[in-house]
Amino acid sequence: MQTLTPDQPGYREEIAGFQTGVPSTPALVVAATGADDVAEAVRHAAAHGLPVSVQATGHGLRAPAEGVLISTRRMADVSIDPGRALARVGAGATWGTVLAAAAEHGLAPLSGSAPGVGVTGYTLGGGFGLLGRRFGRAADHVRSADVVLPDGTAGRGPLEAGIVTALEFDLFPVRTIYGGGLYFGPAQLADVLRSWRDWTADLPDTLGTSLALIPYPDLPMVPDPLRGKHIAHVRVAFTGSGAEGDRLVAPLRALGPLRDTLTTMPFAESGTIAAEPPHPHAYLGDNRVLPALPDDVLTTVLDQAGPDAPVPTVLIIDLLGGAYRDTNVPDFTPDSRYTVRALSVIDPDPDTVKAAHAKLFAPLTPSATGRLRSFVYGQPLD
Ligand SMILES: Cc1cc2nc3c(=O)[nH]c(=O)nc-3n(C[C@H](O)[C@H](O)[C@H](O)COP(=O)(O)OP(=O)(O)OC[C@H]3O[C@@H](n4cnc5c(N)ncnc54)[C@H](O)[C@@H]3O)c2cc1C
Repeated sequence: MQTLTPDQPGYREEIAGFQTGVPSTPALVVAATGADDVAEAVRHAAAHGLPVSVQATGHGLRAPAEGVLISTRRMADVSIDPGRALARVGAGATWGTVLAAAAEHGLAPLSGSAPGVGVTGYTLGGGFGLLGRRFGRAADHVRSADVVLPDGTAGRGPLEAGIVTALEFDLFPVRTIYGGGLYFGPAQLADVLRSWRDWTADLPDTLGTSLALIPYPDLPMVPDPLRGKHIAHVRVAFTGSGAEGDRLVAPLRALGPLRDTLTTMPFAESGTIAAEPPHPHAYLGDNRVLPALPDDVLTTVLDQAGPDAPVPTVLIIDLLGGAYRDTNVPDFTPDSRYTVRALSVIDPDPDTVKAAHAKLFAPLTPSATGRLRSFVYGQPLD
């Protein structure tokens, strides 16, 4: 185990995470390599009356770490038991590693849009992934969790009991998917919002989909038809055949996308569907879970998070339903059908971004069934 204090080289690098908008200055960083290190760090914090926090990738940081910060990035082992279709991973593993290891056995985890996200933080938040409408949340498929309790003892326990040091969870026999996206130009945003909403009324549980409104910057790394434009990006992950996928998406294809990347692909490459930026940055995000998307909600979405939004915003609507209907957690009811999520780079300042998001979510809140903590970024939950 390596420990680092603010004056030591390596301290800044160890606490640097994907979210750069929540700067931390813990008194001590413990670069843990296993459950014993975590237990020792917890006992040290208890003995000195210090708070403890944990960080894997830093995608989900909401408050600056104080006291003792346990860094799990070295606890990233992944092993697959193909016979039982299980993965066992260390607390610092990312989905990218699990995707690759599981694919060697024709298996898939309940991972999400970005392979760089940490398995543990994601699963603790429920875990809403590409195959979730078919198989449910990642948290519903945890077989066992190794945890260190607040008194520093280690053992097996419920996920929320303490600091997770390892997880064992189900994998699913999915080798390939029909996946990718359809990208539509700025003149089509309102039409695509309505068409996607209507299209999602009657889809099989084997098809997962989201719709993102994205203000693409005018930069050379953005492909030509999207560069500098406000785009509607329909994302699809379907575990049926390519021919059936083509048949299902035909009504949206008929709207004439600027770009069409739908194809049969290995599930291990599913991170290319949303193609989220892999570089650390400072961002704020919030969300609501809604039972429906009536026209007035779509108008609010376009006004407050489209091309005329007060701050540039990536707006994502995910289709829930399917196996999520069995989810029984706060903020979720059998009626929960869509998430509406907003994410903005912190520019010019956090208060301006929070005010813009508040304007978007205020009219949505009365009909919302809740708010998913996984998609609250860069700020406390309350
Ligand atoms: C680009 C991007 C894409 C995303 N896509 C999805 C998605 O498709 N579906 C989805 O459901 N979520 C998604 N998320 C949300 C993501 O699941 C959460 O942000 C999650 O908290 C990230 O976990 P982490 O370990 O990577 O991050 P970290 O910031 O390292 O950890 C987040 C929090 O998790 C807790 N935690 C981490 N490790 C432990 C541990 N060992 N023991 C106890 N608590 C721990 C701590 O409270 C910590 O502050 C996405 C986030 C981003 C930024």
